[in-house]
Amino acid sequence: MNALHRIGADTMDFRYTPEQERFRTEIRAFLRENVSDELRREIAVSGHSPGPLGKAFLRLLGERGWLGIGWPREYGGQGRSMIEQTIFYHELDLQDIHYGNLTITSLAMALMKLASEEQKQQYLSRILKGELEICLGYTEPGAGSDLAGITTRAVRVGDEYVINGQKVFTTGAHYASHIWLLARSEADAPRHKGLSVFIFPLATAGITVHPIYTMEGIRTNEVFLDDVHVPASAMIGTAGSGFHTAAIALDFERVFMGKYTKLRRNLDALMHECRQSLDGSAPPFDDPVVRDRLVGLHLDVERLRLLCLKSAWMIDQGQVPNAEASAQKVFASDLEQRLADEGIRILGPRGQLEYGSAHVPAHGHLAQSWLLSPMLRFGGGANEIQRDIIAQRGLGLPRA
Ligand SMILES: Cc1cc2nc3c(=O)[nH]c(=O)nc-3n(C[C@H](O)[C@H](O)[C@H](O)COP(=O)(O)OP(=O)(O)OC[C@H]3O[C@@H](n4cnc5c(N)ncnc54)[C@H](O)[C@@H]3O)c2cc1C
Repeated sequence: MNALHRIGADTMDFRYTPEQERFRTEIRAFLRENVSDELRREIAVSGHSPGPLGKAFLRLLGERGWLGIGWPREYGGQGRSMIEQTIFYHELDLQDIHYGNLTITSLAMALMKLASEEQKQQYLSRILKGELEICLGYTEPGAGSDLAGITTRAVRVGDEYVINGQKVFTTGAHYASHIWLLARSEADAPRHKGLSVFIFPLATAGITVHPIYTMEGIRTNEVFLDDVHVPASAMIGTAGSGFHTAAIALDFERVFMGKYTKLRRNLDALMHECRQSLDGSAPPFDDPVVRDRLVGLHLDVERLRLLCLKSAWMIDQGQVPNAEASAQKVFASDLEQRLADEGIRILGPRGQLEYGSAHVPAHGHLAQSWLLSPMLRFGGGANEIQRDIIAQRGLGLPRA
């Protein structure tokens, strides 16, 4: 048994199997040996751009085969279940190693479903070795939630496409090797039917990258494409299938955005602070209102754990979580914001201290989350749009 076992058509057993428990113990032992305070510090200050220690750690995971735990063996993976892959990500999170590599968690999953056999051979093993990192080029200045409104054009000329346009919020474009780009390739087709996805190196002539900095200090980018020539073989799927391809990749992205363990860790750190007495005053834990809030947060963090496991289980059944991925993403991002907000209220001004400050409580997780969580509520598709997906595809409600 390599996954949580199915006990009915739509039901699952949320307990880990003995094999999965053993795997968790193995991961914990490995992380105890290999995660240094220096690595945690580098990750805490470097945002989404991996530093030298982070890159070396990633390579170490690659050598152990742990970047592709749930991948099929034919693509270099370990052929284990997505539940085991989720256990692995959760254990990394508990060690403050935020595993934000969307190339592995989301794009590779979409490639396995949608790319040609030749493209799978071309990209997947290089992704597993950490040689290929891909940034996402969906959003444009005039098209975010309404993704079918993009205007970047890909025009077929012989065996190539020539691409012109602009992308915005292209996170990672300053260090990734490739871009996964959504462009309009079928000028006369209806909006949703005229798009295609391409993968090509960011070093291709005609690409310019400009930085944009967020309030959390994370760098994202604008990307300008001027007469960029890419081979027709860079297209993933068929011409005009790009909206569907992007939707599948976004479903996987949302599954991996909605993380349980990061919030578990933040809540545990907050509870630890609430037990402490500062300057001889009563610890926050003595206040029944505080205790009531912490219980509410605890229950919601546990609910998120179940949503995460349900999505992983669905992937193991060969499904792509859709409304489920949206629900997980909405619940996780709203909860992250609420946890940070309530934590800072409970701890007072001290709760706003950032990582590295003297006397910082909860390792600065609350302040960091408070700055990051607004972005999580619209990154990967705004929560309002996710609620539409839950209503229409999950609950079968009519469009307004
Ligand atoms: C830090 C950061 C990193 C990002 N990284 C990437 C990346 O790597 N690649 C990429 O392609 N994109 C990226 N994005 C873009 C992100 O996916 C978009 O911001 C998001 O899809 C929303 O699009 P928008 O910003 O154009 O807002 P808009 O679509 O203009 O929406 C603005 C507001 O209106 C609401 N709204 C819009 N339409 C509706 C509707 N029909 N019903 C109800 N409410 C609606 C939205 O919910 C939102 O609150 C990133 C964004 C940020 C800030």
